[in-house]
Amino acid sequence: MSTTATPFTATILGSPRIGPHRELKRAVEKYWAGRIDRAELESVAATLRRDTWASLVAAGLDSVPVNTFSYYDQVLDTAVLVGALPTRVHGIADDLDRYFAAARGNDDIAPLEMTKWFDTNYHYLVPEFRPDTSFSLNPAKVLGELEEARSQGIPARPVIVGPVTFLALSKAVDGAGTPIDRLDELVAVYAELLGLLADHGVEWVQFDEPVLVTDILDNAAELAERTYSRLGALNKRPSVFVATYFGELTDALPALARAPIEAIGVDLVAGSAAVLAAVPELKDKLVVAGVVDGRNIWRTDLENALGTLATLQGSAGAVAVSTSCSTLHVPYTLDAESDIDGALRSWLAFGVEKVDEVVALARGLGQGRDAISAEIAASDAAIASRKSDPRLNNGQVRARISAIVASGSTRGPADQRRTAQQDRLKLPSLPTTTIGSYPQTSAIRIARADLRAGHIDAAEYVRRMKAEIADVIKLQEELGLDVLVHGEPERNDMVQYFAEQLDGFFATQNGWVQSYGSRCVRPPILYGDVVRPEQMTVDWITYAQSLTGKPVKGMLTGPVTILAWSFVRDDQPLADTAYQVALAIRDETVDLQSAGIAIIQVDEPALRELLPLRTKDKAAYLRWAVDAFRLSTSGVADSTQIHTHLCYSEFGEVIGAIADLDADVTSIEAARSHMEVLGDLNAAGFSNSVGPGVYDIHSPRVPGVEEIAISLREALRAVPAERLWVNPDCGLKTRTTDEVTEALRHMVSAAAEVRAG
Ligand code: GLN
Ligand code: ZN
Repeated sequence: MSTTATPFTATILGSPRIGPHRELKRAVEKYWAGRIDRAELESVAATLRRDTWASLVAAGLDSVPVNTFSYYDQVLDTAVLVGALPTRVHGIADDLDRYFAAARGNDDIAPLEMTKWFDTNYHYLVPEFRPDTSFSLNPAKVLGELEEARSQGIPARPVIVGPVTFLALSKAVDGAGTPIDRLDELVAVYAELLGLLADHGVEWVQFDEPVLVTDILDNAAELAERTYSRLGALNKRPSVFVATYFGELTDALPALARAPIEAIGVDLVAGSAAVLAAVPELKDKLVVAGVVDGRNIWRTDLENALGTLATLQGSAGAVAVSTSCSTLHVPYTLDAESDIDGALRSWLAFGVEKVDEVVALARGLGQGRDAISAEIAASDAAIASRKSDPRLNNGQVRARISAIVASGSTRGPADQRRTAQQDRLKLPSLPTTTIGSYPQTSAIRIARADLRAGHIDAAEYVRRMKAEIADVIKLQEELGLDVLVHGEPERNDMVQYFAEQLDGFFATQNGWVQSYGSRCVRPPILYGDVVRPEQMTVDWITYAQSLTGKPVKGMLTGPVTILAWSFVRDDQPLADTAYQVALAIRDETVDLQSAGIAIIQVDEPALRELLPLRTKDKAAYLRWAVDAFRLSTSGVADSTQIHTHLCYSEFGEVIGAIADLDADVTSIEAARSHMEVLGDLNAAGFSNSVGPGVYDIHSPRVPGVEEIAISLREALRAVPAERLWVNPDCGLKTRTTDEVTEALRHMVSAAAEVRAG
């Protein structure tokens, strides 16, 4: 060991940064709008950092993560740190505006692509590597936050995305080689940074390497060993802590342990402590044990966690207690919720409460179980109450699922369904439709605000929503679309809307979590067995259907997507929870059918998102995901047409599953080209109907008739007319009514032109 920093005992890997009342979101958006200046934005940020650090120290952590603050995203911050912003933003003089241009683009500059941070709902910006991208150290942010924390007496530990993870998440453009091939070059910059941090008297630095628990790279273990052997061998550096999370460290564990670094962080919520015993090199390392779940909201079983920590003591040089990952992924504090019943509250721990758990466990580990017997008793009581609560064990729901699963959730053969549906619907070839939502008009926003503020009652709200529905139906009739939708004005969010109506879910008042940049979401908490007390969508859809002779498509969110965007229970397999949600959706499809609705769409945009990080886990996931979808859609007659919608065209590993969903009609994005997307589907044996998006709704650009007609003709070379649908590539809620009207008019004309031959 080249350094002699004292091991810490209690920490977290990172924390929320958006502000307990979303102060950062508000400030950043004001700055973007030109309503506050940089100094004011920086002062909001500094206050948030100070409050965060002070509360972590007051709670009892002896090492506090810094540089985890971000104006937008920590991966983008790392790109700035190593001088790897794309050249197209280099000309922007102000460094903050340059940063935001890379994140959000401007009139002339395209932003970096955004994608999901591993299997969480956080999104990071994907660094781009061009042949001429080079690295240079730009440590202003990390040093600034470090000095700021120091001046406040904080035992600060800078946190930086590690070089292996940074490159694994980057993408090559313009024919550049694979980013990971630049590792040695990048490690030189990290080495320079370590020297600088040592000069500043930093004791510990944390490098985040979650990529080591995934199969994203095929030689991650070897790369990690090479990287940290080199960094560890530097003679001027702080103690190095490599944090891994979101899964179990397998082959990368011995590799990291062999490197001359001082601490390794392991996720013991996702992985087990047993594997650590087999690694002798851990005897002279600090193992940072992530026993408190950093990404879900359940209270820790302290007795159990303390047991895990105790066994680790035998295999590690020293043990520190930590969250499994940054608490960025959970809301700030339970104190902000006034509506939770006592039992449910006792089962939960948000960010603040998790820090208290970490501190209690560290005390228990240091001073013995008796030192925290009161905390353990409270945790035991909560766990016992959760186990025995009748809301978590509804025999009726469970029995119904078993019965349906036993009888096989299948429908009639696809061609038999096609005939039955065609007899009923009599749709033209190349039927035109949309994905569900129409523009969120100001009238909708005002109605929601008025309802929340108590200015209008529920009946008035319903009346206003119905007026919106009537407008949308009228517009679609005028445009001549074949299958209409009600426009989804009543839905704030496609998951929350259902969660609010189902038993077993709890919708927080203030449980905001950063999704990306300034965008926050409030995932519902799925804590119990799922029961649908009442119909959820039938009134709206039948109202829409009453206004037109054309078929109106019912709109539901699928079970996988509802799970993916909620905090889910950890006391049963995900599949069981998915089947319960599926049963509720199934009951809704049957009710829609009974109310005369002939077409029902069950959206599954998150099917690919929930794909496990490890290859070996993927098949089992896809099996239950498909089963849940089929459970939710197999309760209807062959003559009822089931649609699904997926938001992507890079199917990759899920393509087989898309065919297995066996929806009658699948609408998808086709950003690449119709031919490519349809070719991939054909190759996977997909033989039902498909609606590859004919234009990109994410852009305000209105496509011309001819360009749509060309792509339809192209599509017809891959799929026969009786299987091809015509639709935009996603919901229209982010567009304006003018854009939508024109684009759909062109889409309908193009379909007519192509039908005519
Ligand atoms: N039906 C939803 C809509 O149109 C689908 C949204 C989505 O694909 N994420 O808004
Ligand atoms: Zn979509």
